[in-house]
This record gives sequence, C-alpha cells and structure tokens, in this order.
Amino acid sequence: MPPRETQLSIHEKLSSLAANLWWSWDPEVTHVFRLIDAELWETVNHNPVLLLQEYSPEKLEGRAREAVLHTRIHWAFRRFREYMAAETTWGATHAAILGQGPVAYISAEFGLHESLPIYSGGLGVLAGDHLKSASDLGLPLVGVGLFYHEGYFQQALDASGWQKESYPRLEAISLPLTEAKNDTGPIVVSIETRTGLIYARVLHLAVGRIHLYLLDTDIAQNSEEDRKLTARLYGGDQRTRIRQELLLGVGGVKALKALGILPNVIHMNEGHSAFAPLEVIRQRMQEDGLSFERAMRDTASRCAFTTHTPVPAGHDRFDEDLIEEHLGPLRDSLGLDIQGLMGLGRIDPQNAGESFCMTVIALKLCRIANGVSRLHGVVSRKMWASLWPWRSVEEIPIGHITNGVHVPTWLAGQMRVLYDRVLPEHWYQRTGEADVWRSFESITPGELWEVHASLKNRLINYARRRAVDQARRRGERKSVIADMEQMFDPQALTIGFARRFAPYKRADLILKDLDFLAKLITDSDRPLQFIFAGKAHPADERGKQILQQIFKLTRQAPFRGRVLILENYTIDMGRFLVQGVDVWLNNPRRPLEASGTSGQKVVLNGGLNCSVLDGWWAEAYDGKNGFAIGTGRTHANQDIQDARDSDDLYRVLTEEVIPLFYNRDSDHLPQGWIAHMKRAIRTLGWRFNADRMVMDYVTHSYVPAAGGLSCSIVSMP
Ligand SMILES: *Cc1c(COP(=O)(O)O)cnc(C)c1O
Repeated sequence: MPPRETQLSIHEKLSSLAANLWWSWDPEVTHVFRLIDAELWETVNHNPVLLLQEYSPEKLEGRAREAVLHTRIHWAFRRFREYMAAETTWGATHAAILGQGPVAYISAEFGLHESLPIYSGGLGVLAGDHLKSASDLGLPLVGVGLFYHEGYFQQALDASGWQKESYPRLEAISLPLTEAKNDTGPIVVSIETRTGLIYARVLHLAVGRIHLYLLDTDIAQNSEEDRKLTARLYGGDQRTRIRQELLLGVGGVKALKALGILPNVIHMNEGHSAFAPLEVIRQRMQEDGLSFERAMRDTASRCAFTTHTPVPAGHDRFDEDLIEEHLGPLRDSLGLDIQGLMGLGRIDPQNAGESFCMTVIALKLCRIANGVSRLHGVVSRKMWASLWPWRSVEEIPIGHITNGVHVPTWLAGQMRVLYDRVLPEHWYQRTGEADVWRSFESITPGELWEVHASLKNRLINYARRRAVDQARRRGERKSVIADMEQMFDPQALTIGFARRFAPYKRADLILKDLDFLAKLITDSDRPLQFIFAGKAHPADERGKQILQQIFKLTRQAPFRGRVLILENYTIDMGRFLVQGVDVWLNNPRRPLEASGTSGQKVVLNGGLNCSVLDGWWAEAYDGKNGFAIGTGRTHANQDIQDARDSDDLYRVLTEEVIPLFYNRDSDHLPQGWIAHMKRAIRTLGWRFNADRMVMDYVTHSYVPAAGGLSCSIVSMP
C-alpha cells in the first residue's frame, strides 16, 4: 500500500514535486520553492532539484516551519496528486482511440523551462508548450528528443558588442531526469551505420502526465566522437547533423520499442525526425512479414508531419555518401538499393543530381501534413507543389494548424488573478473555448491598466538589474553602471523585441533611419524606449553583426539609457518581457515567419502587437486588437521590401501607436489603448493558445491517423 499522504515528510513531498515539471506551470508551487530560499532559487536558475540538494530533510523541515510553509506544501502536493490522477479529461473523451497506443511526438528541441536549455527558439518552445497542453488535456502522448549536455549556448557580448558563446555542461543528475529502464535494466539503444554502432541511453523527464524520453550518447560504449554527438543543439557539421537526426528518428523509435510503447501515431515536429518512419517500416517488415510497399503504406497512414520552414534553403539536405554511411544497414533491411532510398528524399526520384531532403521524405512518408499558420499553409503548398505535379496548388495535401502558447506557462501571476476573478470557474481547463474568454469584457479599464503598470515596472527593474550585471561583467566604468541603475522611464511607451537574431527577423529594421528614431525616442511629451534580446546562431555572422550594431547604439547619445540589449535570452527572460512590455515589435521579412508565437504570449498579458502581417498575425489582426506594419505586400527585391517595411513601421508608430498610447483621459488612463488590450485578450486568447492547437491536432491529425488513412488528407481548417 502506498504511504498515506500525511506520512510523507516535507522533503519527500517537495522532492516529488521537483521531479515533475508540472510545478513549473503552477505559480503556487513555484512560489513555494522561491519562499524556501529566494536567493538560492535565483542562483540555481529556478531548478528545484538543485535547490533541494542544498537542504537535508532536517534543515528543510526547520526552514518550512520558520516560513510557515507546511500548509502550502501539503496543499500543493495534494493538487499535484489530483492533477496526475484525473480521469475525466478532454483527451479521454475526444481521443479515446489513442488509448490503444499514444502519439509519439518527436522533436529535435524542447523548450520547457530555463533550467533545461535544450531549445534554441520558437520551435523548441512550441514543442514544450505542446507537451504541457497535451498533459493538461489528458492526451495519450509521449515526447521523444535528445539530451544535449551542453544545451544550446549561453550568450555574452564582449566590449565591442560581439557575441561570445559558452557551453556550461548540464548534469542529468542535477535535473529531474532519470534513466529509463525496462525489465532488463537501463535501456541502451544502438544504431548500426556503415562505420560502426552508435549507442544511446534513454533519459526520462516527467512533464505533468506526459513522459518525455531524451536520448543521450555520452556513455562508455561509444567512441569519443559519438560521446560528443549529443553535446550541442544545432552544433557541428553536416555529419553531426545527420548522426543526430539518425539518433532522433531511428533511435527514438527504437527507444519506444525498448520501453514497450507502441505508438499509434508518429508526429514528426519538423523534418529533423523524418528518418523515424523508416525504422517503423523496418519493424513492420520484420515482425509482420510485410513487403516494403505494404509496410510503407501502413506506416505512412499513421504518420503526421508538421513543417515549420517557409524557405527552401532552410530544409536539411544530405549528400548520397552521408546517407549511405548512416542509413546503409537500415536500407539493406528494407531491401532498397541506394537509389531507391535516395529517391524517397528527392522530389524527382530519378534525379541523381538531387540531394536527400528531410522535408521531402517526411512528406512522402506521412499522410497528414500541416504548416503552422494559415499563410504558412499557403506558402507550403506552393513550395512543395512539385511533389504532386498532377494536382493544382490548392489540392496540395498540406493543411495548417496555427501555433499557440501554453497559457499557464506564459500568463503572469498577477494577470492570472484578474482572469480568475472575471472568467468562469475552471477557465484554465477550457482555454480553447471562445465563450470562456467573453467575460473579459467586464473588466474595468483602471484595474487592467494597473496590473499592466505593475508588470511593466517589474520588467524595468529586471532590465536595470540585468543591465548592471552585464556592464560589470564587461568591466564598464562606474558612471556607466550608475546610469544603468536608473535607466528607462516607467511612464514611457516601452517596446520589446526578443527572438532569435536570424537575419530575416530584421531586428535592425527600426534602425534604418537613425535620425528619425532619435526624434521618436527623445520626444519630451511622448518618448519611446526599447528592450532587445536574442541569440544569433554561432555560425551566423550577419546575425552577430546586427547584435553588434544594436549594442553600439545603446552606448551612444541619445539612445543610451533608452535602448538596451539584454544578453542571453532564455524562457525566463522571455517571461519578464512578454509580461511587461506595452508593445511587442515583430517585423520579419514576409512570408518567412511561419507562425511566430512570442506575440501570442504578449497578448495574454495585455501587451499589444505591432507586427508585419506575417505568420499568426496575418490571421489575428482585425484593426482593433493591435497594429499592423504595412498591408502584407512583398517585393522580389529584398532591399525594396526592407525600405518599404521600415517606412511602414515608422508610419504606424507615429500615426497609430504613439498617439493611442499617449491619449489620456482625466484619470490619466489611455482608454483607447486599454480597449485594444481587452479586445486582444478576448478575441485572440482562445484562438492562439496551445490547448486549442493540441485539440486541433487531435481532431484533424491524430484521430484520423490513428484510424489509419488510406489516402492523403486534402482539407484542413
Ligand atoms: C516564445 C519564444 C520564442 C519564439 O519567438 P518568436 O518571436 O515566435 O520567434 C523564442 N525564444 C524564446 C525563449 C521564447 O520564449
């Protein structure tokens, strides 16, 4: 019999809370960890496993008594138990067919929490949010990924503003990770290549009710080269890349098999995992004696694929020799010759000049495919039309499911209190329903504005603290540091821009006319201020130049004190930013932003989007729930498009954003602005959250795939 709850010690209860990432989206539990030791909580980067390592059961008991935490801890633990045990979930009702075997969701990155930096940006955070919503909805789903023991890199800017990368090592033992085992002990999978075997152990992470399995090659069986194979996310060369993708796809399917998990549906999140169906086909042929063709048809009918990349150059491609070295043995088992295998990754199977494309094989080996916004669906159908030359472009079988964000993860605690008051009871279990959000209309402008002002203050204090830390690390003069302690005006219109510094996102678009920008920033009645953050990929020189350009600006008058670049963008920093800004700026080169999600986090917290009509914003903007930069036109000449877009950006700032923000009533409230905030939350909150997204995947992808489809799906919402 399991011990009764009350018999568990405080230490045991907190340890089991720390062992499941559920705590990270429950503000109350997060707060309990902070109350135990606020300073240490910051030092350990909000990692409760590390926090508890510093506390013996006796010391913890003493601390809990001192801070009067017993009731809170019992209550938190009780809710955790209830959450884990709930049986009447949305998933139980709407995805019963998956009870026969879960969805395997395979992704190269997962952005779940700052203490587990195995994500680089939006793709990873989306995957993390997908798991969390799948957990909340009670969906039978398991995650599969890689454990990068150096993660993505940590960013610092040197005295010249140039990006420096460092790779502190992550220890599995300091994280809520355990070795996955079966009856025969810890699971180790092996993958045969032409040049030897690659081994990987399997780590387990509990994400609420979801199990996430992460493969790790840093084990004794491997050569030195392969021990480092999972060191870094998106590190190394083409050879590293294909070996990581082999591990993710083929190793991932093998790991599930070793765990005794028989997925009903394979969901490939982006092309990195597109070798997975090949291993499933091999297993079907071996176990059920099927022919390759038959096994392929069966497997494809149970595979779903989400593409995220609207530029042809962004899709992984491999040459024949790399494919043969790594997939040769698997190809033998499938009974394919090398051209047969290459053909699966080519648009024209006969074209020997074509390299092997991961997106092409994913599209050929799945029966359900989607882009991540309505516009991205259109772009993807056009981009891959040549795979179905007999069809018109509207009939290309790639639909769309627009991305969304996990509400409990991104909603500020203070804002949640407001939601709790005005939305129906248990609203957070029904965020995908429009009705639930309707009553947000009843909120009074003053109270919404007050909460926003408080969150904005919190952001400004955070930014100042970080600015001072950064300056100290760079060895800046005392006077510079003193200025930073006071930088920013809490009353001024505050614009945030934070995301990966990929050049197409154009962090520098606002810098096109510096004289004009200076005028906007220094306007004595209606000033602007900017906070930037983001990492450039280590090999991206152009991205690093953009960082440096902004860095230099932050040191020169009149921008100094009003424009800041925060180093080392993480999920943690992201929360401060999306919860505190007035305006979130997003100006990618249309249509290159497949969806974008950061602006959706801003919506939940009352910030307004000012964005190019690209990705999700192209279907979200209605004229009264934020701002549009331009009208969605593009130009074949990049310079012309950039020049037009920067004109449009300055125009919307001066004609719409700034006047609306500074137009105050007798109580000093910007009534028009607040009306936009309310409208954004009410009309966008329910559509662009991860519960709605996962529910769409269930309805349009998982359930049809679990039923086994014999033909391509052409229509999606
Ligand atoms: C949400 C998020 C992103 C995605 O931002 P986009 O603007 O959609 O590209 C990237 N990084 C982090 C840390 C995030 O939280």
